[in-house]
Amino acid sequence: MSALLQVEGLTKYFGRFAAVDGVSLTLEEGRLTAIIGPNGAGKTTFINLLSGFLVPDKGRVVFRGQDVTRLAPAARVHLGLCRSFQIMTLFPDLTAEENVLLPILARRGRIGRAFAPYKADSEARAEAAEVLRRIGLLAYRDTPARLLSHGDQRLLELGIAVATRPTLCFLDEPTSGMNPQERRAVLDLVRELSASKTTTFVIVEHDMDVVFSLADYIYVLHRGQLLAGDTPDAIRRNPRVREVYLGEEVSA
Ligand code: ADP
Ligand code: MG
Repeated sequence: MSALLQVEGLTKYFGRFAAVDGVSLTLEEGRLTAIIGPNGAGKTTFINLLSGFLVPDKGRVVFRGQDVTRLAPAARVHLGLCRSFQIMTLFPDLTAEENVLLPILARRGRIGRAFAPYKADSEARAEAAEVLRRIGLLAYRDTPARLLSHGDQRLLELGIAVATRPTLCFLDEPTSGMNPQERRAVLDLVRELSASKTTTFVIVEHDMDVVFSLADYIYVLHRGQLLAGDTPDAIRRNPRVREVYLGEEVSA
């Protein structure tokens, strides 16, 4: 395995409070990594630092050997980094197909052009159809995003993220607010996409059953600091993780 992303001493203050506090870790190519930690541990802040939505006060983020610490989100997307949000980021009035087409057209260098002629781009449309099929929303291609169920909107959001064909993709609680069936659909999709090795996924997830069944590797954040980084089995047995922090949950 080779390091896709290296994080060195990453620190982010909100006022005097260090939400992320000197975190150093490595994300390996092809390794499905979960980041866990209780509410307020700094997970979302950490993902925001990696994806460029926040700039750190200290430390470095190196993606494939390139220092991206101060690069804007769009520039990181261009390099192959992407994220999907804990909150919704769809265009509600655009159809499911149009939402997925936007990143595809952008990748194909068509973002500056009028949106109307997109229907003429049959390759882009075929690619959008394939994304919609994978997320199980092909039947809703002409439905405005706002009319989809909450779970389907989250699936569409994931579709938008993978449509950019990222090298590294961060998913911050992609199943929040979903019913069990929708959750399974999302997690199966992440597993399937991860197995295809095109994209390396980093997932923030609070459901420990999901984390331990999905992840190849787990980092544990606690009060902004890295408590542990190990395989799921070792994390389960890690006394610091069990006692100090996750308690019963990991042994269940
Ligand atoms: P998690 O995603 O693990 O629940 P967050 O990264 O959202 O944690 O938050 C970590 C800590 O930083 C929390 O105490 C939170 O209240 C605080 N925090 C997050 N964002 C901000 C912000 N923009 N301004 C001030 N405090 C923040
Ligand atoms: Mg969060």
